[in-house]
Amino acid sequence: MSRTPLITGNWKMHKTLAATRTLVAELDTAIDGVAGVDAAVAPPFTALETAVSALQGKSIAVGAQNMNEAEEGAFTGEISPVMLTDVGVSFVILGHSERRAIFGEDDELVGRKVRSALAHDLQPYLCCGETREQREANETIAVVRRQLQAGLDGIDAHRAAGIVVAYEPVWAIGTGLTATPEQAQAVHADIRALLAELFGGSTAAAMRIQYGGSVKPGNAAELMSQPDIDGALVGGASLDADSFAGIVRAVGS
Ligand code: PEP
Repeated sequence: MSRTPLITGNWKMHKTLAATRTLVAELDTAIDGVAGVDAAVAPPFTALETAVSALQGKSIAVGAQNMNEAEEGAFTGEISPVMLTDVGVSFVILGHSERRAIFGEDDELVGRKVRSALAHDLQPYLCCGETREQREANETIAVVRRQLQAGLDGIDAHRAAGIVVAYEPVWAIGTGLTATPEQAQAVHADIRALLAELFGGSTAAAMRIQYGGSVKPGNAAELMSQPDIDGALVGGASLDADSFAGIVRAVGS
């Protein structure tokens, strides 16, 4: 089964409206004509409408970095799936390790958000990954399985096919430390085996599993050459058009 690699920029809490306009215009030019790879960006909420309108008719998808699972209500400071589809985004990153560690999101909450996103025709990216302590205690697979089982609870194979799983070892996020291609591939293979248990082999074979953690133009091709690594979720290197485009070009043709 061939899966088109997907490179997604998670801008986190960066970029004003003016900076968003500049970055998406530069990116669009820089990856024009690159084939065999899908590209996407996740700006902050305030810049979503600007990015959506600047990328209208272009091949770069736009998504959000988080959402509340409810449609509306007294949830000060939150953004709902209805608001995201209203603004025209197509995907939403859920359960990022920063949401889990800094904002206390647990596996069950992430699962409710995944189900809500699907119910509103938003493509969920379900993030998972172990801390350094968990890796050193040989708990990587158990942690990732627990996060994914809860995150994918109650979802049938048909709807699961559109979900992107992002494996992001917490110790590699924003640290400059990257999992070796072999370390990452080993976890990705285990994730695909879990997806096959949950949804069957053909759905598991169709699902994209991104790697995230200090991906740069210089290490992207080797990581993506692994059989179960289907793209990257990119933080720091997505904030600059040359480095993000360098990753997209390293993976595409
Ligand atoms: C991320 O936060 O999703 C991420 C992978 O960040 P970085 O690329 O900066 O490690």
